[in-house]
Amino acid sequence: MFELISELKAYPDHVVRATCIACGADAGTSVFAYTCPECGANLDLEYDYDAIQAEWKIDDLMTNPDRSLWRYAPLLPVHSPPRNRSLEVGGTPLVYANRLAEHLGFRELWIKDDTRNPSASLKDRASAIGVQHAGELGLSTIVAASTGNAAASLAALSANAEMNAIIFTPASAPPAKLTQILQYGATLVAIDGNYDMAFDLAREAADHFGWYNRNTGMNPVLAEGKKTVALEIAQQLKWDVPDFVIVPVGDGCIISGVYKGFFDLLQLGWIERMPRLVAVQAEGSPVIVNAFSAGKLVMEPVSAKSIADSITVNMPRDGQKALRALRESAGCGVLVSDESILQAQHELASFTGIFAEPAAAAAYAGLKVCHATGEIPRDARIVMLITGNGLKDIPAAQKQISFPQPVEPKMAAVERYLEQLGTLGQDHATRRKNRMV
Ligand SMILES: [Zn+2]
Repeated sequence: MFELISELKAYPDHVVRATCIACGADAGTSVFAYTCPECGANLDLEYDYDAIQAEWKIDDLMTNPDRSLWRYAPLLPVHSPPRNRSLEVGGTPLVYANRLAEHLGFRELWIKDDTRNPSASLKDRASAIGVQHAGELGLSTIVAASTGNAAASLAALSANAEMNAIIFTPASAPPAKLTQILQYGATLVAIDGNYDMAFDLAREAADHFGWYNRNTGMNPVLAEGKKTVALEIAQQLKWDVPDFVIVPVGDGCIISGVYKGFFDLLQLGWIERMPRLVAVQAEGSPVIVNAFSAGKLVMEPVSAKSIADSITVNMPRDGQKALRALRESAGCGVLVSDESILQAQHELASFTGIFAEPAAAAAYAGLKVCHATGEIPRDARIVMLITGNGLKDIPAAQKQISFPQPVEPKMAAVERYLEQLGTLGQDHATRRKNRMV
């Protein structure tokens, strides 16, 4: 727990409780606690929905010219939005994926394209709220453990807000992500170990040095940032929520954030039902899906390994909340192989123009499994969450493609080459015929 450095309470008045998800204790809203002071489990932030409802109407939202996540400020756990909002976080497009829907035989498929955030991943939503919250607590240094995206995101948002970011990451993280972190000017501590070790060290360092801890798996503020993706999906679909939302899952923070967003809207009466959430995990990192499928509340750690680095964890830090999200939304869990993730990555990019990193493409691989098993009916309305950009891990993306041999720089050679590939197509045949006439 923090000594109060700033004049402000840990949370604004519209946050009324910080409730332990295990024992129900209230950690309070005056002083900031990461986890339950009684039992150490994660916390949920509860809002005064009546007060919010009285002051904030759908029309206010619809006429607000701010497209960023700060338009949802009455449902966020900070006293005010930052003055500097030049890096616009959130407000990402919901893309109608008609080619992909036709290809699979689904009636209605949407892609929430969160690759379009400032650092190219959904994690910017959590970082934006975390950076502002840290500042309100009077802190100027923020630490995070990450396989890459959360770290790159924190580094970007911190640079923009003139905060110091210290990142603990496995040394094996994709070079593009490490490059991003260093380019943004953050301090990088590359651990000779896995993500779980980096996580524990970051937590220890935050305690030791008095830094703000941006680790989603234990800081309740961050899920509140992630929930804005659900608020946006609901608003973009004019409050008629989808039947299914497909979410790639590692630590479980994004899916619990998505659940919280829809939960808040239900409390406000702005939507009528909770969409069914589908958790997609890599076969090599299956802890949450395994527990859910077996109907267990206790998770068994694994020695995780997958090409989808962003969702590769031995023991999910927000697993309990993720399991609750699946139970409460009548959701389901799906496991996908690395091979199917890489195939899905290429198929998604070539059918939609959206280049997803492997962890994000896992959502599409999972959707294909649900299609094959009939878990999701053909006439369902589906939203798939694409959480990070494929440029963040080029070596992984290269596994599914092969570079062409050089072609002699002459038109005849180009034509021969394209004919061999069979890509000249009908246009060319028609033009050649016309020329002959
Ligand atoms: Zn507790």
